[in-house]
Amino acid sequence: MIIVISGPGGVGKGTVVARLVVDDPRLWLSRSWTTREPRPSEPADAYVFVDRPTFERNIAADGFLEHAEFLGQLYGTPFPYPAADQDVVLEIDVQGAEQVKQRDPGALLIFVDAPSRRIQRDRLLGRGDPPALVDERIETAEREVARARQLGAAFVVNDDLPTAVADIRALIDEARSHS
Ligand code: 5GP
Repeated sequence: MIIVISGPGGVGKGTVVARLVVDDPRLWLSRSWTTREPRPSEPADAYVFVDRPTFERNIAADGFLEHAEFLGQLYGTPFPYPAADQDVVLEIDVQGAEQVKQRDPGALLIFVDAPSRRIQRDRLLGRGDPPALVDERIETAEREVARARQLGAAFVVNDDLPTAVADIRALIDEARSHS
């Protein structure tokens, strides 16, 4: 099964996903490629950081399950992946979620949102994003919510981290029981 976790920047998706994967050996987390620069606060292996020509060559070689441009940077899920007998977790934007759903209608789509845009803004500023970029990400958030609703994603609010993780685990358990 493919499990897609989407949500606006600064909602804590990365933390939620890291918890999920540590606790469940049946989950395998894909590492995306991106053309954006690493953030100072970010581990070096958060993404495979590449330049645009390298990314575009991989598109041409059919090396992505999905890829999308988000705020001027390219992001993509490398394919094929090695997790034959595990459920694959993708932390990707809603454009990518839509592509995955088209390729695999059985994919589980989960949208993690912040309790409010004010809290999202504080989290983005707190991790050191420049204020202009924060404004862009906040504006993008409402469009992402609307798109995720159209796609039929399950919504989880990340107010309290353990609760959000438990909510997502329950969604995964339920989907597994049907697959
Ligand atoms: P950030 O720059 O904050 O790490 O990521 C920006 C957005 O790109 C987030 O919504 C994140 O989930 C998304 N993203 C990360 N990796 C991928 C990917 O491989 N494909 C797509 N479509 N989006 C991705």
